Amino acid sequence: MYKPGRVFISIDMEGISGIVNWVEVDRNNSEYAFARKLMVGDLNAAVEGALEAGVKEIVVSDAHGGMRNMRPEDVHEAAYLVRGSPKPNGMMEGIDDSFDAALYVGYHSMKGTVNGILCHTISGSAVDGVSINGRETGEFGLNSALAGFYGVPSVFLAGDYAATKEAEAFVPGVTTAAVKWAVGRYSAKCLHPNESGKLITAKVKEALSKPFPEPRCVEEPVEVKLRFTSSTMCDIVSLIPSFKRVDGRTMRGEYVDYQTAINALRAGIYLGGAAERR
Ligand SMILES: [Zn+2]
Repeated sequence: MYKPGRVFISIDMEGISGIVNWVEVDRNNSEYAFARKLMVGDLNAAVEGALEAGVKEIVVSDAHGGMRNMRPEDVHEAAYLVRGSPKPNGMMEGIDDSFDAALYVGYHSMKGTVNGILCHTISGSAVDGVSINGRETGEFGLNSALAGFYGVPSVFLAGDYAATKEAEAFVPGVTTAAVKWAVGRYSAKCLHPNESGKLITAKVKEALSKPFPEPRCVEEPVEVKLRFTSSTMCDIVSLIPSFKRVDGRTMRGEYVDYQTAINALRAGIYLGGAAERR
């Protein structure tokens, strides 16, 4: 049987077991301490599953906020941890064509999802929506396409139920683990963290022990549409030469390949987000 040697894990926070509110994922809030502990618990459960599947090397990218959420000493010793921000490829920093598979832990659904816990797309304050080649795309869709650009299949996602459904729509055949079921944007029925850990370990092992889905590739050239939450953001992002304004709150650009497209998208979001901070 094929054994994957190197895997990449991108770990966000909103889709971690038990987390339901922004204050819990905000490092300036006192409730953050317990949430970061839950986060590393889900990560280490995934690492265990990868080791059980025979993986030799694991690289983890901390993908939430300032990307310094997990204390290095709490992370499973088998994993390398990429932390800090800004990073060239953000949530996916470290991905390249040397990996056999990409996995996603703590993921949430795109902005506007019904019963999607803490749903948003990259920036809750700046971004109303992103479309790639005409398809509304959230963080899993964006990040799995970057893995696919490097020929890496996306094989597993853990997060809330809505995030697992979104992942299955973008990558048919992806293995998922739902750790909570939202009943609104800020409330959910949650598995006990110990139980979600067991589920994540078992599902990661399963995902890495069966045939992988095809790498998710988007057609090139790549059209990016970036819909902001305010027109001020477009006023500023209009300064980036590759972006053209479509309407009051929407920018459009077309790029030769996906890495270039995601770079432009992230630059637009950084700049747009800064436009309202005065
Ligand atoms: Zn996040």
